[in-house]
Amino acid sequence: MYHNFINSEWVEGLDVSTNINPSDTRDIIGHYARACETQARTAFAAASQAFPTWGAWGPQQRSDALDMIGSEILARRDELADLLAREEGKALQDARGEVLRAGQIFKFFAGECLRLPGELLASTRPGMTVEITREPVGVVTVITPWNFPLAIPAWKIAPALAYGNTVVFKPAELVPGCAWALTEIISRAGLPAGTFNLVMGRSRDIGNVLLEDPRLSAISFTGSEATGRKVAQAAIGRPGGMARFQLEMGGKNPLVVLDDADLEVAVSCALDGAYHATGQRCTASSRLIVTDKVHDRFVAAMLARLPSLKVGDARSNGTRIGPVVDASQLDQDLAYIQHGLSEGAQLVYGGHALQEIEGKPGFYLQPALFIGASSSMRICQEEIFGPVAAVIRVADADEALTVANDTPFGLSAGVCTTSIKRAAQFKRELQAGMVMVNAPTAGVDPHAPFGGRKSSSYGAREQGRYALEFFTHVKTSYINP
Ligand code: ADP
Repeated sequence: MYHNFINSEWVEGLDVSTNINPSDTRDIIGHYARACETQARTAFAAASQAFPTWGAWGPQQRSDALDMIGSEILARRDELADLLAREEGKALQDARGEVLRAGQIFKFFAGECLRLPGELLASTRPGMTVEITREPVGVVTVITPWNFPLAIPAWKIAPALAYGNTVVFKPAELVPGCAWALTEIISRAGLPAGTFNLVMGRSRDIGNVLLEDPRLSAISFTGSEATGRKVAQAAIGRPGGMARFQLEMGGKNPLVVLDDADLEVAVSCALDGAYHATGQRCTASSRLIVTDKVHDRFVAAMLARLPSLKVGDARSNGTRIGPVVDASQLDQDLAYIQHGLSEGAQLVYGGHALQEIEGKPGFYLQPALFIGASSSMRICQEEIFGPVAAVIRVADADEALTVANDTPFGLSAGVCTTSIKRAAQFKRELQAGMVMVNAPTAGVDPHAPFGGRKSSSYGAREQGRYALEFFTHVKTSYINP
C-alpha cells in the first residue's frame, strides 16, 4: 500500500486505486492511496506554512538538496526505468532515457539555485538606481499527465523548488507508481516539512481544491486541451484573486519530407517521431507531409522498416513499441483508425489490436500507417496520442509548408531536407514552438526551453533557464541613496 505524502507524513487515503501493468493486465503493481478533498486542503496548508522556511534556506542548501535528489534518480536508473516501463508501458530503452532526463533536470536546477540572476538599470532620475530582482511565487500546484510520469513531474518540481517555491503535486491517475517513487526520493532530501506534498487521487474528488485553494499562487499543468481550459478558467475566476498558470497541451506535429531529403534520415525521423513511446508523446509526428517526387520511395522505405518495430511487453528484450497505456486509450486509437478508413485514407500497415503477446494479455496495437490522407481529415487534425501516422502527399515545398501549418496546434514541427535554404525557410515559417531540421519532432534536450504556440501551450516556457519566468516574480526596486 502506497500512501500520500502530506506535511512530510505518509497519509492513508479514503480509498485506493489499483495500478495495472498495460503489458500484462494480470500484473498488479500496487495499491495507491486516493486523497480526499480535506487531505488536499491539508497539503495546501502545509505548503503555505513551509513557504517562508523554504524560502529562507540559502541557495547552496537548496542546491545540495536538489543535487541529492538528482543523484539518487541517476543511481537508481535501472530500477526506476523498470517501474516506468511496467507502469506506463514505455519500452525499456525509452524508459531509461526518461529516467536519465529526470535526473539531469534535478542536477541542472541544482546549479540554477546558485545562479539566480538580477539586473541593475540606470534611472532616468539623477542619483536613483533601478534594481530588478526575482522572488519565489509561493505555493505551486503541479498537475501532470501519464505519458512522461517521471520527466514531466521533474521538469516542473525541480524549478519550483529551486526558485524557493513549495509544491503540491498531483500526478495522473494512471501512473501513481512513478510519482510515489519520486516522492519517496524527495522525502529523504531533508526539505522542511510541507515543502513538497504528494496528493494522488481522482481529479473529480480533488480537482477543485487543486485549482482553487486560496493558498496556491501558481498552477503548472500538462495534459489535454480540454482540461487546460478548465485550469485557465479556474485560475482566472478563483475567488480571492487570480492564480498564475502555465499550460502544456496537445500537439498535431508535422514532419515534412522534401524532394531533396536524405531518405534514410527522413524514414528514421518518421519512425521515431510517429511510433516510439507508442506515439504517446505530445511531440509525436502523426502527420507525414511528403512531396510528390519522393512520396512513393518514402512510403516503400517506411513499409520496409516498419516490421522492425517489434511490439511487445515494454520490459522484454527487443521490444521497440510497448503497449498503449490503457483500454480507453486503445479504444480511442482504434476509433481514429476507423475514422481514417471511413474518410477515405488507405491503411497500408498495422492498425489492429493484439489481445496478447507471448501469452501476456495487454493493450497492444500494431503501429498504423495511412497513405492518401488529406489535411482536413480528422486523423490529420485531432490529436490521436497513439502509434498512428498518416502520409499527406503534396506537390511541392510551398504546399508542404501550408499543410504543415494547417492545424490548431503548434508544439513541434520537423523538416527533412539537404537544402540549407529550405531548412532556413521552414525554420522561419513553421508555426511551432520547436522546429527540428533532419531530426524527429520528439526528443528534446533537458536544458533547452520547451513549449509551443496556438492551442498547444499557454504561458511561460518550461525547462532550462526559461523556467525562471514562471516560477519567480519580478520585483523592480527604485533606490534613492
Ligand atoms: P490526459 O489525456 O493526458 O490524461 P487530462 O487533461 O485528462 O489529460 O489529465 C492531465 C492531468 O490533469 C491528470 O493529472 C488529471 O488527473 C488532471 N485533471 C483532469 N481533470 C482535472 C480537473 N478538473 N482539475 C484538476 N486536474 C485535472
